[in-house]
Amino acid sequence: MTRRVALLGSPLKRRHSQVMHDAAFDAAGIDARYVLMEIGPDEVEAAVAAARGPGWLGLGVTAPYKPVVARLVDEVEPDARAIGAVNNVLRTADGRLVGFNSDAPGFRAAVEAAMGGSLEGLHVAVAGAGGAAHAVVYGCLTAGATRVTVGNRTTQAGERLAQRFEADRPGVVRAVLLGGDAFRTALASADLAVNATTVGMLDPGTTIPVDLLPRQATVFDLVYVPAETPLVRAARDRGLRAANGSEMLVRQAEIAFERWTGIGGMADVMRAAVAPLLADPAARA
Ligand code: NAP
Repeated sequence: MTRRVALLGSPLKRRHSQVMHDAAFDAAGIDARYVLMEIGPDEVEAAVAAARGPGWLGLGVTAPYKPVVARLVDEVEPDARAIGAVNNVLRTADGRLVGFNSDAPGFRAAVEAAMGGSLEGLHVAVAGAGGAAHAVVYGCLTAGATRVTVGNRTTQAGERLAQRFEADRPGVVRAVLLGGDAFRTALASADLAVNATTVGMLDPGTTIPVDLLPRQATVFDLVYVPAETPLVRAARDRGLRAANGSEMLVRQAEIAFERWTGIGGMADVMRAAVAPLLADPAARA
């Protein structure tokens, strides 16, 4: 029986995850497929229930179904609970569904590779306060960052994010207005600046004026289409270390694949499989 992982979302415009996971199933000799399930809100409950069956390894979850799936699974792992987002589900051998988050460890692995070092003791400036920014901030805190400044266009969302981490790490995460004076001041002492907004992909421009950053700072853009985002280009033009989100995409997929199959070390296979899509301007939409 060919087993399955299904990505639940609507709309599902990208095939990047499918291409990476199917290549990894093939390379590992596992009879399984990653299928895209673009479904309506009234179909989510049945799709999650079906994934308890023996033909399933788990689920991927994307917008807008992350909150509802988190309520439908049997258990949410502590990391995913702390972040406030489930982006994958594991089906256990006894048919229980466990929600987990692969974005935070994927971010951490990718950013540490880009920096060539750890986040321990660093000041990180993050643009954005959506689901990805929550995973980024959690990844920074668990990796030992000592100061995180979150700049968001909508200040309430930024404050909610900071509040989520306040009890565990009092005073470490501070929310400010994206583009405001406090954010600009924070950039001047940031070791790492992260774009976790959709700017650069959905909207033109950049969220981080790279000329304000120290010379030794690293810039990390979660956006991975286009391959050289406007932010990455501006950072490199200034001589800063910079990376887009493609390695995070690969690392979070590698982590999810290992949870579903018990087989790790698939990053090279996944990176090679997704490279043509990442280079294809037509795969942006
Ligand atoms: P989301 O939950 O919809 O959050 C979007 C964020 O972008 C919010 O903070 C929003 O601010 C901000 N934003 C949107 N338009 C803006 C604008 N014109 N100016 C300033 N801020 C703006 O999205 P998400 O899931 O967090 O994803 C964010 C980005 O990360 C996406 O591009 C996604 O593709 C990328 N991502 C990459 C990976 C990877 O593996 N590389 C993983 C996850 C996500 P408001 O609160 O003010 O609306």
